[in-house]
Amino acid sequence: MTSILMLDGDGIGPEIVAATRTVMAAADRRFALGLHIESAEIGFSALKGSGTSIPGTVIDAALAADGVVLGPVSHNDYPPVAEGGLNPSGVLRKRLDLFANIRPAKTPPGASGATGKPVDLVTVRENTEGFYADRNMAEGSGELLPDADMALALRKVTRRASRRIAEAAFALALTREARHVTAVHKANVLRVSDGLFLEEVRAVAALHPGVTYDEVLVDAMAAHLVRDAGRHDVICTTNMYGDILSDLAAELAGGLGLAASLNAGETHAMAQAQHGSAPDIAGTGRANPASLVGSVAMLFDWLAGRKDTPAFSEAAQAIRDGLDAALASPDTCTPDQGGRADTAAMGAAIAHQIAG
Ligand code: ATP
Ligand code: MG
Repeated sequence: MTSILMLDGDGIGPEIVAATRTVMAAADRRFALGLHIESAEIGFSALKGSGTSIPGTVIDAALAADGVVLGPVSHNDYPPVAEGGLNPSGVLRKRLDLFANIRPAKTPPGASGATGKPVDLVTVRENTEGFYADRNMAEGSGELLPDADMALALRKVTRRASRRIAEAAFALALTREARHVTAVHKANVLRVSDGLFLEEVRAVAALHPGVTYDEVLVDAMAAHLVRDAGRHDVICTTNMYGDILSDLAAELAGGLGLAASLNAGETHAMAQAQHGSAPDIAGTGRANPASLVGSVAMLFDWLAGRKDTPAFSEAAQAIRDGLDAALASPDTCTPDQGGRADTAAMGAAIAHQIAG
């Protein structure tokens, strides 16, 4: 038995989570995965019911589950923290110690991506520190400083977190054809903090003679990606650079609707689309479920390794094949990919492919 906790979230969350569930059920039937799926409320619906966007019972359930599937959340619109408006994504990343955010950007077969050149890269983003370490501690004005017209932000970089994100990046590179890691930084200006990050990545690079390695400044990387994203393989970087570059890479590869991600730690993992809750299209059936479906394929691969259950990697591959098949026809994909299917129909089409 493998237990999965599913959390709808806000905006398009309930729609893409429902479609993803259909896909998971098909994979469960075909590969006898023994999934035990439970749902719990977070976000606005939890705020209404229990006064907090992430109840303690949900955190406990996430800690107890083998894997978590998190729908997008509109945390920017929540009430203040004192009134229960916590960012569920941030809380779960912290409580489950999900230190690596793995964000692939891959152009589907036959598609050409935003610049006419296919992209197949993965951003490995440090997920626990940087400018986003602890927003209350790391950013302030007024109450922290005598000058209410000045704000300061602190950026935290530790050896341990840099080391383990580098290890995750090189382990991933070993599974890929190009076997290349690029560390992205701004150590020409942030000499101490990005310097420390680079020291750790270099130390890990030295232990991996089978993986080629280079370093690129974050500003140059933005230009490189637009010019020729197809040249890049694994990008290893700190929290904020990874946040920004992975959105750029996702859009170049084919759009945010395709952008999957996995938050991974030693003992827990959480599937989560790269995009937000897209309130502009919520409730219209236009949301592309591929982002979350692809994230679940990543979770299944992670579970295959963790529980030594090859059926999960077979299921992950079947999900990816089903996704590619659905994206290949306008009848089975959503409008962001030039199709005419709605969210549920696209989920059903992927499930149908998996069922064979
Ligand atoms: P949030 O405040 O929660 O981040 P947002 O308005 O920034 O929400 P995002 O979800 O980050 O919206 O995405 C930006 C835009 O990309 C959306 O407005 C939406 O049009 C599009 N988009 C995002 N996700 C999807 C998806 N799964 N399918 C189709 N379009 C999407
Ligand atoms: Mg957003």
